[in-house]
Amino acid sequence: MKTDILIVGTGAAGLFAALHMPRGRQVTLITKDEADKSDSFLAQGGICMLRNEKDYESYFEDTMKAGHYENDKESVDIMIRSSQSVIKDLIEFGVNFEHHHGHIAFTREGAHSNARILFHEDQTGKEITGMLLKRAMERDNIKIIENTCMLDIIENEENECIGVVVQNPDTTISIIQSKFTVFACGGVGGLYTNSTNFRHITGDAMAICKCHNIALKDMKYIQIHPTTLYSEKDGRRFLISESVRGEGAVLLNQAGNRFTDELQPRDVVAKAIREEMKKDNMPYEFISFENISEKIIRSHFPNIYSTCLQEGYDCLREPVPIVPAQHYFMGGIAVDYQSKTTMDRLYAIGETSCNGVHGRNRLASNSLLESMVFAQRAASEISILIDGVEFPDDISVYVDFERYHDIDALKEEYKKLVLDEIDAGFE
Ligand SMILES: Cc1cc2nc3c(=O)[nH]c(=O)nc-3n(C[C@H](O)[C@H](O)[C@H](O)COP(=O)(O)OP(=O)(O)OC[C@H]3O[C@@H](n4cnc5c(N)ncnc54)[C@H](O)[C@@H]3O)c2cc1C
Repeated sequence: MKTDILIVGTGAAGLFAALHMPRGRQVTLITKDEADKSDSFLAQGGICMLRNEKDYESYFEDTMKAGHYENDKESVDIMIRSSQSVIKDLIEFGVNFEHHHGHIAFTREGAHSNARILFHEDQTGKEITGMLLKRAMERDNIKIIENTCMLDIIENEENECIGVVVQNPDTTISIIQSKFTVFACGGVGGLYTNSTNFRHITGDAMAICKCHNIALKDMKYIQIHPTTLYSEKDGRRFLISESVRGEGAVLLNQAGNRFTDELQPRDVVAKAIREEMKKDNMPYEFISFENISEKIIRSHFPNIYSTCLQEGYDCLREPVPIVPAQHYFMGGIAVDYQSKTTMDRLYAIGETSCNGVHGRNRLASNSLLESMVFAQRAASEISILIDGVEFPDDISVYVDFERYHDIDALKEEYKKLVLDEIDAGFE
């Protein structure tokens, strides 16, 4: 199969990139699972936007402070300055943000000095990504192929990426030839027992980059979310969004006492909960919604309310047990400000990439925004460069099919590679 542009991943980053590619070019998206099974669909809290010029310095400072001042300042500036145009695009695509008296409503989350987060109930990711998926499916030049797993890239003698090797839904192996390839493969949560991420999001693109000497960056920077619903069941951990604390929820220990400022950056709050769990010798502490009105709980957090209820906790009446869990990956495939990797014709966007915008720790609700800002920049550069690129005659000569003989072993090798790379960062 041949396509002008191949995008691996159907989350917010991949879909937003696809919708900004030239309409005259064939764009193919593949995804390991179904198209709506991505972490982007799970985002609860919202998406940040620079409200006005007066908010610039404070937004910049909040992002830098959360990132322990290790952020790439240029990336932060690009993200903040592009935020209004991304939100405008989303509204034009049909995304419905919450309104209050006819104006867009803004909420606040931990470590934000101002209310600058747009939201849709507590299912902002589903609203945004669902709409992007709908729009992508309407476009004649965009094709989405589900249950198809990228196993490797194909590299020519000039060290350019000229396509990928995939495992098809029927488990056969084939190749997809492309002029440009964009990794939009999400984070690494599937590698951890306790994570809010989908289990199939396992950092595959990072492992493939490692095998092809493509630079990775900040691989030790993993974000732990302070408040996920405690459960003894296996599988993904359910997030209790930061915006709940932004609206007044408090953290309580086993004795029912507050023990930290709930609106500090995520890493600080997660550490405080861990310390309290140690003191109490318990695998969880509590979040109490008692300062939030029933009206707000039911209107702003209906998904959190109903999921807690299904697990046996009525947050209108009692505190809910919470535990910190792996949530987000600040590191990833090193990219420049146009999202290009260190290999020609290969781009990386969204959580799988690292342009340094988050530094050591991500500020709440900056990731959907960052994914789309830098997806659009990748699309702009590819739209210009693609005019000079032709398909080569036969790319199978660059593929060693023997390598894909035992796929399960290869997938395990990839997981180990990524975990080793993360561990190496701590040495
Ligand atoms: C529970 C939760 C709540 C969140 N809340 C917020 C929030 O309120 N605000 C915010 O800004 N951010 C939030 N985030 C973070 C945000 O959702 C993600 O960082 C962002 O959506 C990542 O988007 P993405 O497109 O990069 O990756 P994803 O949406 O994770 O998509 C990755 C895609 O890559 C595909 N893929 C992966 N590997 C392969 C492969 N080998 N072959 C083929 N396909 C592959 C997957 O199938 C998937 O389609 C939240 C995250 C979670 C988990």
